Amino acid sequence: MQFGLGLKLIGYVVAGVLVTSAAIGVIRVQNERGSLSELIGKAGQSVANATASGAASLVAGYDYGNLEILAANVARQANVIRVIIRNQDGRVMAQATGEDAGGYKRFESPVLFNGQTIGGVTVNISTDALEKALNALYWRVFVEQVIFGAILGLIVYFFTASGIVSPIRKLTIVMEEVVEKGDAFIARDLEVKSGDEIGRLVAVFNTMSQSLASYHTKLQSKIDFANQELRDKNIQLGGRTRELEHALDLLSTMATTDWLTELPNRRKFDETLSRMFHQSERFAEEITLVLFDIDHFKLINDSHGHGAGDEVLRDIGTLMRLHVRKSDLPARLGGDEFGIVLYHTNSAQAEMFVEILLESVRAHAFDYGGARLSIGLSVGIAQYDDSMETPQALYYAADKTLYQAKQDGRNRYSVYAGVVPCQERESA
Ligand code: GH3
Ligand code: MG
Repeated sequence: MQFGLGLKLIGYVVAGVLVTSAAIGVIRVQNERGSLSELIGKAGQSVANATASGAASLVAGYDYGNLEILAANVARQANVIRVIIRNQDGRVMAQATGEDAGGYKRFESPVLFNGQTIGGVTVNISTDALEKALNALYWRVFVEQVIFGAILGLIVYFFTASGIVSPIRKLTIVMEEVVEKGDAFIARDLEVKSGDEIGRLVAVFNTMSQSLASYHTKLQSKIDFANQELRDKNIQLGGRTRELEHALDLLSTMATTDWLTELPNRRKFDETLSRMFHQSERFAEEITLVLFDIDHFKLINDSHGHGAGDEVLRDIGTLMRLHVRKSDLPARLGGDEFGIVLYHTNSAQAEMFVEILLESVRAHAFDYGGARLSIGLSVGIAQYDDSMETPQALYYAADKTLYQAKQDGRNRYSVYAGVVPCQERESA
């Protein structure tokens, strides 16, 4: 449980006032006790002295009867408990008992006759009255001290509360507001009401609050500036990243494209063939590889120039692109050699495709420099089968079949038939 400063202050003031009041009370009671005791002492001693002087002639005359009367008279006086009259040998000559009481004090007085001690008087005086008076005194002092303490406490509390607690409370409320606002730090000025420590604390708070607000503003502007720079850099970086991505795309396209025909190159072809091969192996899908080579291409170069040869290569590329499906991959494998991987296609379907391609080549006008060129292709067709363990095996089969077509007179296609000899057909 947390106590506020005000409550703690009341606690301290009450404790302090109680201790002080108790100490003052004790001192006061002790003083009063001393004077009361002295008073009783004097009274008791004078009773003993008076009794001794009254008894002097009676002791000297051994007048026991009157001594008894004297003792009885003295014992009747207030607060006298006991009176004893002795001769000089210490023998009791008379005694009387007064009121019955608890505590008492003993007083002695010698019985003198003609300057000589002939006996002694002992008087016991009750101290009950003293105790009662002291008790009453205790209570009076206690009540007086409590009232005095309460008034003193209230005065002390009032001044300390208005001078310390209330300014500190205001300071705390303002500080809490500042903390709660967080980002939006605004300087707060509190009124400085005094020149003491509290006043100085408020003044220091005002100065701190001003400089914090100024730091806050500077820091915020630096953060804004840094954020803006970061945004700008991100934009620049974004632009450069896009340029870089574009350049990388271009590089990747260049690395996989044939510069002359703009068909995929050998590298792209090998990658795709490998992927398709493994796919057909795994899912038992049909793929067929078609390879072809231009017949007597060297002659075209030699007779019509290298530029004409290039044009022929480009035209062949265009014709290929015209007849393949999107899922198939036409590629220039190098020189005058081309290849196509036909997906979901068996060799019979591939034959139909090749016939159409050859037909389109035949129908195409290869005109260069006023001369019409006759272009023929030798084609090898090989379908993937289980005996082929690698993509290279399929490639090798198609290449072997292409070679067979060349051997058999060119301008035709051959179909790979595994162990069975190649089935060859004269193209129409
Ligand atoms: P075959 O019927 O046996 O194929 O005879 P061929 O004359 O076509 O012989 P081969 O296929 O071996 O010759 C290919 C020629 O293609 C050799 C080379 O000079 C030529 N060549 C290779 N690359 C290019 C090219 O990019 N442009 C041109 N114009 N010619 C090329
Ligand atoms: Mg050739």
